[in-house]
Amino acid sequence: MKTIGLIGGMSWESTEYYYRQINEAVRQRLGGLHSAQILLYSVDFAAIEKLQHTGDWDAAADILSRAAQSLESGGADFFLICTNTMHKVAESVERSVGIPLLHIADATANVLKQDQVSRIGLLGTAFTMEQDFYKGRLSQRHGIEVIVPGASERETVHNIIYQELCLGEVKPASKQAYLQIIDGLMSQKVDGIILGCTEICMLLDQSDTAAKIYDTTAIHALQAVDLAL
Ligand code: GLU
Repeated sequence: MKTIGLIGGMSWESTEYYYRQINEAVRQRLGGLHSAQILLYSVDFAAIEKLQHTGDWDAAADILSRAAQSLESGGADFFLICTNTMHKVAESVERSVGIPLLHIADATANVLKQDQVSRIGLLGTAFTMEQDFYKGRLSQRHGIEVIVPGASERETVHNIIYQELCLGEVKPASKQAYLQIIDGLMSQKVDGIILGCTEICMLLDQSDTAAKIYDTTAIHALQAVDLAL
């Protein structure tokens, strides 16, 4: 079994899901008392969030690069950045080490392509929904068209992530708001919805909607297990 390196803490609320889902999948595949070999470097999210919102992505990349280097020297065989948003700096973090990154957009695209999805709705932070590092990778590298909600809905989705989910708060009204936004995207003839933020799985899952849901947290965690085994 390979050792999985995780850069987590963005937020730790979602990293907890990674840890559980990776271990559950290893137990399911190998049985008995088997569990995953994991190295976790969990950052202080307050510092990262400040750098995101002031646009100092180079400083954020430095923090994540140091984390990746620690994982590499600790013996990780490959690593994950446990957030969609911070894949904005994925290339420079990956360049700073000799071990490969399991990119969350590529992991998600693998599943979308298996399902023959060509047009998908995306929910995530404003950074993920509005900039090209994520949507562009899905469209240019994988040929998948990405549709995002309108401006005021994007603001709602973004604010719920930072002001509630990353603080561990799960509110029924926010779930309803998300489900309404999902319905709006579905009416634009998308094949499903990417939960493109690793905390959204705290708020809703497949049982809440008829739309096909692609949860990036679960997808990323399971592909880490595929790679490790
Ligand atoms: N975990 C979130 C994501 O997947 C948002 C927190 C962050 O900005 O990293 O994008």
